[in-house]
Amino acid sequence: MEEILKLNQLSETPFRKKVLSIFQKHTEAIPVSVFEKELNDYNRITLYRTLKIFIEKKIIHEIAMSGQDTHYAICKETCSSTKHEHQHIHFKCKKCETISCVSLALFPTIEVPNHKIDQLEIQATGFCANCEE
Ligand SMILES: [Zn+2]
Ligand SMILES: [Zn+2]
Ligand SMILES: [Zn+2]
Repeated sequence: MEEILKLNQLSETPFRKKVLSIFQKHTEAIPVSVFEKELNDYNRITLYRTLKIFIEKKIIHEIAMSGQDTHYAICKETCSSTKHEHQHIHFKCKKCETISCVSLALFPTIEVPNHKIDQLEIQATGFCANCEE
């Protein structure tokens, strides 16, 4: 995990390491409130700045679902250093309210007349594997 910082030419500050370790601990996407809870000593500005740098470096991405606080998730697959390219959907469970990145074997492409799509985000709601009845 710490190699991520090195690979992206970011200095390995204890704070950045701590934020990364929080991402590592969670399989689902996480809102800022989780960072605030788990970082016992933090500065809000530093936290936001760190998340912003991680997004710019394509280490993590933002998930903005309507009615939800912004969530953050680690980028796994295809994101290069220049572009986020997610072959997954964002899924919100209506019961446990977790938001997670769910990979698809085949990510759909959509053609829209007279528009060039360079990023497609699919959001879905339902019940996750833990909550399915
Ligand atoms: Zn990404
Ligand atoms: Zn659930
Ligand atoms: Zn995602």
